[in-house]
Amino acid sequence: MMEHDYVRVMPARIGLGVFATETIPADKCVGIVCGEVFEDHESDYCMDLDDGTVLEPFAPFRYINHSCNPNCEIVVWDRPGHPNTLWIESSRMIEVGEELTLDYGWPAAGAIRCGCLSDNCRGWIVDETELGLLQSPAPHEPDPDTPIGFSAG
Ligand SMILES: [Zn+2]
Repeated sequence: MMEHDYVRVMPARIGLGVFATETIPADKCVGIVCGEVFEDHESDYCMDLDDGTVLEPFAPFRYINHSCNPNCEIVVWDRPGHPNTLWIESSRMIEVGEELTLDYGWPAAGAIRCGCLSDNCRGWIVDETELGLLQSPAPHEPDPDTPIGFSAG
């Protein structure tokens, strides 16, 4: 499996996930999201960039899963000569062995059921502000057969 400074890709509850190999303090840059930038591209892993292009991330952050109560966020860093650099930053302390998660914040049109099991789970992988746009109410118990995110492959 691919090694990284603070993290390792390992099997998660569903598919693969990114796990801390050491304690990560809050507000720490865990790593740069490396990948390939496309003008027009869609995949289960891609991340939208501000200029309308999309980034197809490489491992390890390719495998970071969604949670409605995430411990990481994506920060955009526009360096001269390197626009649109994305990095993963811890939003709270992360213990060794804990899975790193992001809030994908998908638009309602692309929302799928969420099975993250966090106390504040919205029931859907969707941007908080677009939750009200979903037609049907969120199920109380997410279907365990529904993949929770990017790591299904
Ligand atoms: Zn959830």
